[in-house]
Parts: sequence; C-alpha cells; structure tokens
Amino acid sequence: MDKPSPGNALVTGAGRGIGRAIALAMADSGFAVVVNDLAASQELSETVALIEAQGGRAVALPGDISEIAGHARLVEAAWDAFGGIDCLVNNAGISVAKRGDMLEVTPESYDRLLGVNLRGPFFLTQAVAQRMVEAPSDRFRSIVTISSINVEFASPDRAEYCIAKNGLAMVSQLFALRLAPHGINVYEVRPGVIRTQMTAVARERYDGLLANGLAPIARWGEPEDVGAAVATLAGGSLRYSTGEVVRVDGGMAVRRL
Ligand code: NAD
Repeated sequence: MDKPSPGNALVTGAGRGIGRAIALAMADSGFAVVVNDLAASQELSETVALIEAQGGRAVALPGDISEIAGHARLVEAAWDAFGGIDCLVNNAGISVAKRGDMLEVTPESYDRLLGVNLRGPFFLTQAVAQRMVEAPSDRFRSIVTISSINVEFASPDRAEYCIAKNGLAMVSQLFALRLAPHGINVYEVRPGVIRTQMTAVARERYDGLLANGLAPIARWGEPEDVGAAVATLAGGSLRYSTGEVVRVDGGMAVRRL
C-alpha cells in the first residue's frame, strides 16, 4: 500500500542549486511542493518539470522574499496550491555582491544582504506560522531554515553574509520556542562548502582548502546532500527535537588538534 503523503511544502529559492535539490528530495519523499524563486524563469519551470518527471506534484510561485509587502499574497497562493502548508523551507539567499575587505563594506551592501537573508526569512516565517497556528493539523509540521557554516566560521571577506546567517540561527531558535506549543518543529540546516553557482566564484580557493583538509569528508558537498537532510527533518523522523541544528559540512565544524 502507498504511504500517506507527508503533506505540502513551500521551498524558497528553488530555481537552482540547493533549493532545487531540496524541492526534489521533498517531492521524492511524497511532499507536494510549491517552488518559489525571485521571478518566473526557465530554471524555476525546470524544477517543476524535474519533480513531475519523477512522479511528484509541484507548482511554481515566483516572488521576491525580501519584499515583505508580497508575503501575504505569496503565503495565500502557496496555501491554496495544494490545501495548506506543512513545511516551509527558508532556502533563498544571496552572497555578497563582492568579496573583499570588511573595512570597505557599504551600507547598501549590508542592507541588501540582511534584507534578503535575514529580514525576508523572518517575516516569511512569521506569515506562514500565523497561518499554520490558525489552522491546526494532525500532520507533522515544520520550518527548516538553511543558514550556513558561517554561523560558526567567520569570513571577514563576507562580513555581512556571516552576520545575516548568525541572525538566522537565532530566528530558528526563537520560532522553535514560539511554535512548539502548536506542534510545529523548527530546524536549522547549516551547510558547509556546497558546489553551486553561489560558490562558483571561489571554486579554486575551495578546491585548494578541501585538498588541504578543510573537512574530514574530503570532497565538495553537493546540493543533494542538503536536500536529503531537509527531507529527513521535514519527514518527521526527529519529532522530539526542535530548535536543533543539523550540519551538512563533511565534518568541517569538528574542532581538531
Ligand atoms: P544559488 O545562488 O545557487 O541559489 C539561490 C537561489 O535563491 C537562486 O535561484 C536565486 O534566484 C534565489 N533567490 C535569491 N534571492 C531571492 C529572493 N529575494 N527571493 C526568492 N528567491 C531568491 O545559491 P545556493 O548555493 O543554492 O544557496 C542556497 C542557500 O544555501 C542560501 O541561503 C545560501 O546562503 C545557503 N548556503 C549555501 C552554501 C554553499 O556553499 N553553496 C553554503 C552554506 C549556505
């Protein structure tokens, strides 16, 4: 007999990279998936097509998550797409426009980064959480936020990124406390060095660091490594855990002597 569906998920930034891999992994484990990205694009349509090709259900819902004024419409449309949201995955994020000396960071770059990577996810989570709380469910429900190993590792050439991701780690803990009474579990997934377009600008540098022992699992992380972790959490196998962090970093954060 087929397993019952775990429900419906909304994945932000799912046009490519880690977000696409998360959407595919969620669909593979039975979720109907609303895939969001900045705008309608061929990449976003491809994510839908890939999910449908593996027998899953997906719809594309473009929208800039840094535009708080658009959240109500985004959440309503996502809610209506399949009849509720059981899992929100806050994945959309950007890197700094230019890696460089933090003594040169501009207010414009700082505000842009925090707007997309921290302010946007906070208010989107708030909007989804309000809707979830209004509509109790027997299903396992969760919010999974993709932060970064930069919560723990300081990169002075990407200061505003590190600051935003640190804030996101606290957002995850705060929502874990607030939503536990409503049966909504909250997790932070902390990727290490993952092979995507975001890291393409520093590929040679990371190749060198990985060759020199950056992580005990001596290879690049793949988007699918993150996808599998998120699908596991969203599937409800860890239902007595909330506010938890799962690192997908090849062991990079283990202190060594
Ligand atoms: P990516 O640049 O390949 O993909 C990010 C996607 O998010 C893109 O499709 C982009 O259009 C979308 N996006 C950007 N701003 C958006 C917005 N305002 N609204 C909606 N969608 C938006 O990056 P990636 O490597 O797949 O990163 C995904 C997430 O993982 C990010 O939050 C990133 O910070 C995090 N992360 C990545 C790595 C890594 O090594 N690649 C490591 C740690 C954390």
